[in-house]
Amino acid sequence: MHEWALAESVIKAAAQHAAELKLKRVSEVAVVFGELQAIDKEIFPFAMKELAKKHPLMASARFRVIDEPAAFRCRACSAEFDLKRFRKESDEAEFIHFVPEMAHSFIKCPSCKSPDFEMTAGRGVYIKHIKGSK
Ligand SMILES: [Zn+2]
Repeated sequence: MHEWALAESVIKAAAQHAAELKLKRVSEVAVVFGELQAIDKEIFPFAMKELAKKHPLMASARFRVIDEPAAFRCRACSAEFDLKRFRKESDEAEFIHFVPEMAHSFIKCPSCKSPDFEMTAGRGVYIKHIKGSK
């Protein structure tokens, strides 16, 4: 049900955004999904479409889902890295998709081995753009 709650907030934000842009009809909403966001990528677009029916503005909008790969930056040496290398090395890399908070326990900077890093991309869900007509 997490997907429905999230879809609801995305639809709400999209409707607000469309109103600010003074759009009369929204034709497309592009939503970016972080790789680390534990979400069902089939349920979510379906939920958005269903919920959009309640908004006259968005009833005929298309919903695009864009994947954003996770990215990290080491706080010690500023090296930037992604999840790909960890995926090859351990099964736990899959686990991170469900519990992003666990990342720090098994991911280390590939350059200096520091476990002190920040996630610079791939965590959130946000609206990339809205298209429509006035
Ligand atoms: Zn480092």
